[in-house]
Amino acid sequence: MKRKLILSLLMLSMAGSSVTAYGVDIDASKQKLNQASEEKKELEEKLNKKEGEVDKLVKEIEEIDSQMRAASDELEKAKSELAKIEAEVVAVKKELEAAETKLEEKQEMFNSRVSVMYKNSSAGYLEVVLGSTDLVDLFNRISMIKDIVGYDAEIIAEVKNQKEIISVKGEELKVKESEAKEATRLAETKRAELESISNSKIAYMETLKNDEVAFRSSIARLEAESAQILDSIKSEESRQAEEARKAAESASKPQPPSAGSSVSTGTGSSNSGSPDIEVAPSQPSSSSGMIRPAASGPVTSEFGPRWGTVHKGIDIGVPTGTPILASTDGVVARSYYSSSYGEVVFINHGGGIVTIYAHNSRRLVSEGQRVSKGQVIAYSGNTGDSTGPHLHFEVVVNGAKVNPRNYINF
Ligand SMILES: [Zn+2]
Repeated sequence: MKRKLILSLLMLSMAGSSVTAYGVDIDASKQKLNQASEEKKELEEKLNKKEGEVDKLVKEIEEIDSQMRAASDELEKAKSELAKIEAEVVAVKKELEAAETKLEEKQEMFNSRVSVMYKNSSAGYLEVVLGSTDLVDLFNRISMIKDIVGYDAEIIAEVKNQKEIISVKGEELKVKESEAKEATRLAETKRAELESISNSKIAYMETLKNDEVAFRSSIARLEAESAQILDSIKSEESRQAEEARKAAESASKPQPPSAGSSVSTGTGSSNSGSPDIEVAPSQPSSSSGMIRPAASGPVTSEFGPRWGTVHKGIDIGVPTGTPILASTDGVVARSYYSSSYGEVVFINHGGGIVTIYAHNSRRLVSEGQRVSKGQVIAYSGNTGDSTGPHLHFEVVVNGAKVNPRNYINF
C-alpha cells in the first residue's frame, strides 16, 4: 500500500520533471508572447484613436471644401459683376467723349456764326443785312439770322444736357465699380482664408496618416514576432512530448534477447522487500542480482524527498573518471547528452526494469549495444544539472522510478 502511494507520487513528480527540464524556455516564450499581445493591443487602441481623428478631420475638410466652393462661386460672381461694370464705365466714357466732341463742334459752329454776325463787320452779317433789297427784306434777313443763332443755341443746350446726364451716369458707375472691387476683394480674402484652413487640416491629416502607417507596421512586426514565438513553443512542446514518449518506451520496452537469469530472479516484488538483511554490505551484488554501479564511494543523497521535491535516484560521491558499471545484464536503451542528466546511459534489463546512470564525463556504450553485469559503461563526471562530481543512479520499474535500495545494497 505504502509503495503504491509512493509510486503514484513518483509518477506525478516524473510528469513534472520533463516540464522543469525545458520549462524555462517555454515560460519565457509565453511571457514574451503575452507582452507582444499587450503591446499589440495598445497599438491597436492608438491606431483606432488615430483613425477616429482622421475620420473627424475628413468631415471637417469636406465642410471647409464646401464653404470654399461657395466662396469661389461668390468670388466668380463678384468678378463678373465687376467686369460688367468696368465695361459700362468704358462705354460711358466713350459716350461722354463723343458728347464732348459734339458739343465742341456745335460750340465752334455757333461761335463762328456769332462772330460772323457780331464780331466780323466786314463779312457775313453785314453782307447779309446790307444785301437786303428793302426794309422788309432787311427784317426778314435779321430774323432769319436770329432763328439760326437761336437754333444753334438750342442744340448746344441739348448737347450740354446730354453730356451732363452721361457724366452723372459715369459718376454713379464709378461708385458701383469701387463697390464691386471691394466685394471682389472680400470674396478673395474669404476664399484664401478657407484655403489656408483646408491646407493646414490636410497637412495635419498627413501626419495622422503617417502615424497610422507607423502603428500598422509595428502591429505587423509584433504579429510576425508572436507567430515566431508560437512556432518555437510548439516545436519545443512536441520535442518534449517526443522525449517523454521515448523515455517511457525505453523504460517499458520488454527485452527478449537478453533474458538474463539474474534479472528474472530479481523482478519479483517479494524479493525487494528485505534486501538489506539478505545481503552483506561488502558484497557487490544483492538478491536482485544487481551490483553497485560504482564499486566504491559514499551515498551522498538518498532516494526520496529532498529540498521540497523528490530525489528520484541515489547519488554516489565519486571523483570524475571513476568507472561506472552496468548493474546487471541488459541492452543500452539510450546513450546521449541531456541538459539535465548530462552524459547519460539507460540500460534495459527486460521485465520492465531500466537503470539510469547520469552526470558522466564520458559514455563508452551506444544504443542497442548488449552489456553484461559489471561491464564499464561510462566514466563518472559532473555533466548536466550537477553541482559536483557524482553518479546519479535511478531504477525504473514499469515506467515508475523506485528506490534503488530495493534492488541493491549500497
Ligand atoms: Zn541525484
